[in-house]
Amino acid sequence: MSEEFGVLTIGDAMITMNPTTTGPMRYVNNFERRVGGADLNFATGCARLGLKTRWISRLGKDGFGRVIYNFARGEGVDVSHVGLEEGFATGVNFKEIREDGSGKTCYYRFPTPMSVLTPESITEEMFDGIGVLHLTGVFLALDEKNVSIALRMIEIAGKKGITVSFDPNIRLKLWTIEQAREAFRQILPHVGILLTGLEEIQLISERETVEDCLAYLEPFGIRDIVIKDGARGSQLFREGKLFEGEPFHVNAIDTVGAGDGFDAGYIYGHLNGMAPEEMLRFANAVGALVTTVWGDNEGLPYLEDMNAFLGNEVVIER
Ligand code: ADP
Repeated sequence: MSEEFGVLTIGDAMITMNPTTTGPMRYVNNFERRVGGADLNFATGCARLGLKTRWISRLGKDGFGRVIYNFARGEGVDVSHVGLEEGFATGVNFKEIREDGSGKTCYYRFPTPMSVLTPESITEEMFDGIGVLHLTGVFLALDEKNVSIALRMIEIAGKKGITVSFDPNIRLKLWTIEQAREAFRQILPHVGILLTGLEEIQLISERETVEDCLAYLEPFGIRDIVIKDGARGSQLFREGKLFEGEPFHVNAIDTVGAGDGFDAGYIYGHLNGMAPEEMLRFANAVGALVTTVWGDNEGLPYLEDMNAFLGNEVVIER
C-alpha cells in the first residue's frame, strides 16, 4: 500500500549552522553547515521509510537554496514543486550551545521566499497519489496568508478523500499563542490525525490534565489524537479509547527532530494499515532513534534500520 499512497507536505527549510564549540555565540568562530526545518525533517523521515513523499516549498535562488534542494532530492523527496526564487535569500539559523547543554537559536528567515506562495499556487495535480496531507504550525506561523493556503489544500484533500494530519509545532518566536489558537481553530475541524506534544496541547487549550485537553478538542471531531511525551513515549485517543505507546529506552543525545520523526513513523503506520498499538510502537521507535544521533534529521531511520531495531529481521554485518 505504501507504494500506492504517499504524503504531501508544505513548508520552508533552512540552513542550520551548528557551532563546533560550546559557549556564547559572540565567541564562537566556526560553525558546521547542516540542513533543517520541521517540514523537511518530516518529509525526509517519510522518504527514508519508503513513502512516496512530495514537498511543496520555496527557497532562495542562491547556493544555500541549492544545498537544501539537492539534499531533499538526494533523500528521495519529490521536489518538483520546490522552487528557487530570484530576489530572496534562503533562511539561515545559527545555534548557540552553552556549557551546561542548554541552547538557543538565532534565525535569519525573513523576508522568506515562501511569501510568493498563494492559494492559487496549489493545484489538484499536486495531490495525485497522495494518501495523507501533513500540515504543521510552522508553515501557518510564517505568514498570515498561509492559513488560506492550508485551507485550500484541505479543501482539495477533502474532495479526494485524503486524510489531513496536523502537528501544531508551536514556535512562539514566529507568532503569539493567540494567533496560533485562531489559526488552529480554522484548521482543526478538518484534521483526521493530530500529532501534538503534551505541553503544546496544554498551551493551546489553556488546560492542565490530558482529560481536560481532550475535552477542549472534542468539538473538532478529530479521529486520532496522538500526544507525544518525549522519553515517556506517546498516547493515542481514538473514538473514546486510549492506547499507550511505551517508550524505547535509548541513549538520547539530541532530542531535536524526534517529534518530526515520530510524525513520519505514525503516518507510515497509518498508510500501511497498522493497528493502533503497532503504529505507536513504530512511531516511538522512529522518535527514539532520532535522539540517538546528533542533528535534526541525521538520525532519521531507513526502513531497514527500523526492522533491525524492532527485531523484525536478522542483521548480518559481514
Ligand atoms: P518534540 O520533538 O515534538 O518535542 P518529543 O520530544 O515528545 O517531540 O518526542 C517525540 C517522540 O520521540 C516521543 O513521543 C518518543 O516516542 C520519542 N522520544 C523523544 N525523546 C525520547 C527519549 N529521550 N527516549 C526515547 N524516546 C524518545
